[in-house]
Amino acid sequence: MKYDYHIHTEFSPDSRLIGSDLVAKAIACNYDEIAITEHLDLLPHELSACGLPSLTRYRAAVSKLQADNPQLRILFGIEIGDYHRVKDFAKSLVNEIEFDIVLGSVHFLPDNTNVAMPMPKPLSREQTIAYYNYNLDLVRNCEFDVLAHLGVYKRYYPYVPDESYVLPIIKDIFSTMIDKRIALEINFGPLRRGYANLHPENEHIKLYKSMGGKLFSIGSDAHEIDHFDDHYSSVPTEFSTPFRYMI
Ligand SMILES: [Zn+2]
Ligand SMILES: [Zn+2]
Repeated sequence: MKYDYHIHTEFSPDSRLIGSDLVAKAIACNYDEIAITEHLDLLPHELSACGLPSLTRYRAAVSKLQADNPQLRILFGIEIGDYHRVKDFAKSLVNEIEFDIVLGSVHFLPDNTNVAMPMPKPLSREQTIAYYNYNLDLVRNCEFDVLAHLGVYKRYYPYVPDESYVLPIIKDIFSTMIDKRIALEINFGPLRRGYANLHPENEHIKLYKSMGGKLFSIGSDAHEIDHFDDHYSSVPTEFSTPFRYMI
């Protein structure tokens, strides 16, 4: 199947991608299914900067796109940023609306470093450990479908760092995901930024598989029309069955 389950459009404040352009390109590029997964960012500084998105307006927009384009399956999704830190609030919003797919992701460290933005220097060892511990909190304490962009802070790194010291935490993340049937996102966004690896890297994908992990979800994390489908052909075909279609 050709699919992409991590895409941001008009309802994400940092996206310039128009839903109708996305759908036209997805049809032209022969996608079977896409998920629009707008940001739901609820940390206090995010709420004061961008406010709360209208989930009902967003749902209506996706329903219209689907009605206008029956030849493509369009899922109504959401990416909850830092869910473990805003759990009750996020849950109350998400429970009111039925999403087809919910992504969970870590964007901020305890020291409020935004790991999804270009950084002046690589994370310190302590920050790297804090990043994975937050991902562990997220998968342990929250209910969602896909862990998005694990390792996102490295996408602007000029090299692949040696981080064997976090492997025990990554193992705990994967074993929790396997128990709770949370899928692992194969995020190919780093490829368009010049980081020659997927997130997570092959070594970590191998570890997940060796532990019995079988649920995958491909995501571009597109925020512009040119991001969508860019480098898709570099994603190994072994991930072409999305978790929703695995028994
Ligand atoms: Zn994200
Ligand atoms: Zn995203």
